[in-house]
Amino acid sequence: MAQDVMQVETDVLVIGSGGAGMYAAVEAARLGANVFLLDRSLIGRGGATVMAQMTVAVALGSETPDHWSHHLDDTLAAGRGLCSEPLSRLLCEEGPACILQMEEWGIGWARRDGRITQAMAPGHDRPRCVYVDFLNTGPAVSKTLRTVVNKTGGIRKAGDLCIVDLVRQDDAVVGAVALHLGSGAPVIISAKATIVATGGLTRLYRRNSASSNMGGDGYALALRAGAPLIDMEFVQFFPIGHLAPRLVGMDPIMWDPFRYKLGGRLLNNRGEEFAYRYGVAEDGKYTLTRDVATYGILKEVEAGRGSPHGGVFLSFEHCSEAALREAFGPVIDRLAANNIDLTRMPVEVAPIAHYHMGGVQADVRMQTEVPGLLVAGEAVGGANGANRLSGNAITEALVFGREAGRSAAARAKRTRAQPLRPEALAGALDLIRADAPARPLNTAEMVLRLQTTMADDVGPLRDATKLTRALATIDDLTHDLGERPAGDGGAFDLVRLDWLDLRNMLVVARAVASAALARTESRGAHQREDHPAMLDRWQVNQAVRWRNGHLDVAAQPAASLAAAQ
Ligand SMILES: Cc1cc2nc3c(=O)[nH]c(=O)nc-3n(C[C@H](O)[C@H](O)[C@H](O)COP(=O)(O)OP(=O)(O)OC[C@H]3O[C@@H](n4cnc5c(N)ncnc54)[C@H](O)[C@@H]3O)c2cc1C
Repeated sequence: MAQDVMQVETDVLVIGSGGAGMYAAVEAARLGANVFLLDRSLIGRGGATVMAQMTVAVALGSETPDHWSHHLDDTLAAGRGLCSEPLSRLLCEEGPACILQMEEWGIGWARRDGRITQAMAPGHDRPRCVYVDFLNTGPAVSKTLRTVVNKTGGIRKAGDLCIVDLVRQDDAVVGAVALHLGSGAPVIISAKATIVATGGLTRLYRRNSASSNMGGDGYALALRAGAPLIDMEFVQFFPIGHLAPRLVGMDPIMWDPFRYKLGGRLLNNRGEEFAYRYGVAEDGKYTLTRDVATYGILKEVEAGRGSPHGGVFLSFEHCSEAALREAFGPVIDRLAANNIDLTRMPVEVAPIAHYHMGGVQADVRMQTEVPGLLVAGEAVGGANGANRLSGNAITEALVFGREAGRSAAARAKRTRAQPLRPEALAGALDLIRADAPARPLNTAEMVLRLQTTMADDVGPLRDATKLTRALATIDDLTHDLGERPAGDGGAFDLVRLDWLDLRNMLVVARAVASAALARTESRGAHQREDHPAMLDRWQVNQAVRWRNGHLDVAAQPAASLAAAQ
């Protein structure tokens, strides 16, 4: 299908407009760069940031004395020995400055007696999490940044642009090729610096907490452009995703704020609080970190002590209606509309794919191994090691976004724009403009098959048999997908978009499953049933590289790239 090609030139291209992308765009523009901020969704309304609920971890010490080094100690402990320490340090040390900048920009962090309130969260040694309110912190972060983006000169914005591939020329990334979803036309963007801020990969899993544009595009884009990924085996499952009864109009991870405020009891089908079996006696409090809670819940289910729908119970029956209403006001009415009365009944919860600890390997300036390619936010691997603490992800998005914006602006100042050569663009343009193939493909069914495989065989509890079976299914699906895109490539062609998404999802799924198969130990979010011990010799990160169309997984000393800078 012949279509006009639009061309855009910019100093800095930012791919993805979540917290990381918007902060990066503002910082780069503030330092004098021309910025093109694009998103496959609407600007500032796709991805995870706008869905985040409550906690933002930062050592402000506004109510209880704190220091970033305490936050770092907790982050490293949660990461089970695998954090890329320079990145973790950056997150913790620079967190306060970004959080205070957000306050200056008008976010309105919740306050008590004039001081910014900080809540306790599992794995933190003191109250450290700021919030706007208990269900709407993410929307407030997004709205604040959207407003600043709109007020900042030098930022052009475009939604409905999905990046299909980065453009690599003379060993550097010099821009990207996008598909305009509304017309099916290609858009070529030339940039002196490109920031991948595309968020995580949880769409790979059947039950997930994120939006449908979180299929791990950025990881696949970076891999194909030559940048390594690290820690891909560490997918975080949110332990208490809502399972039953049916809940309409609310987020599946909505129970976390209830637990922050009221504790709540996690019970098996005998009515027992079972956390003590897995190392922590909760006794109505909320202290289990996410990796341990996920493990405990799945083990209770496996032992036949689960709830009817395959999870466990979360109960607030010991709380009075007045206490619940005081804590959650109108949310109680929304639950009532779903026939849920927390004073009389527990709900069923089970782990749900939520966040990715792994990602593109970067140094503390958010530079990858490939000149011209930077990363930010959840797309970056390593800061949280084998397990992320509650609240670290929004802070990571803001801090890493700011850093990436600075580095990109600096690169743009010292770099001349490169004319893009046709051979560097041809592959992506062909995929966008290809005619419909004779053989129809049920891409929606293929997405579901991949998600089911990942959930069943590459979930929190793994073994060699399951992982090998998952890799065989990924092989089959890759073969079925073929080289030529499905769909006719016209306006809003969702089949072509599914095909392009699957092209990325299959590569990323392979990276997760291969790294999980190679790591023959259990650590944090990666639990191997056939290798249950955590082993000293595995205190190494694994890097995944793309070599001649294949993935190569290799162990490397922890944080080697970050430490080398
Ligand atoms: C329901 C939910 C609740 C959460 N609650 C919390 C919390 O309370 N505290 C906390 O710290 N963390 C929380 N998290 C995690 C946190 O929100 C994310 O890790 C963080 O917001 C990621 O920010 P980001 O900017 O890196 O990515 P995102 O905000 O995910 O943004 C990525 C953007 O990239 C775009 N994109 C992707 N691929 C392409 C492409 N090919 N071309 C163009 N654009 C593309 C997407 O459309 C999206 O807009 C939560 C996550 C979820 C899903």
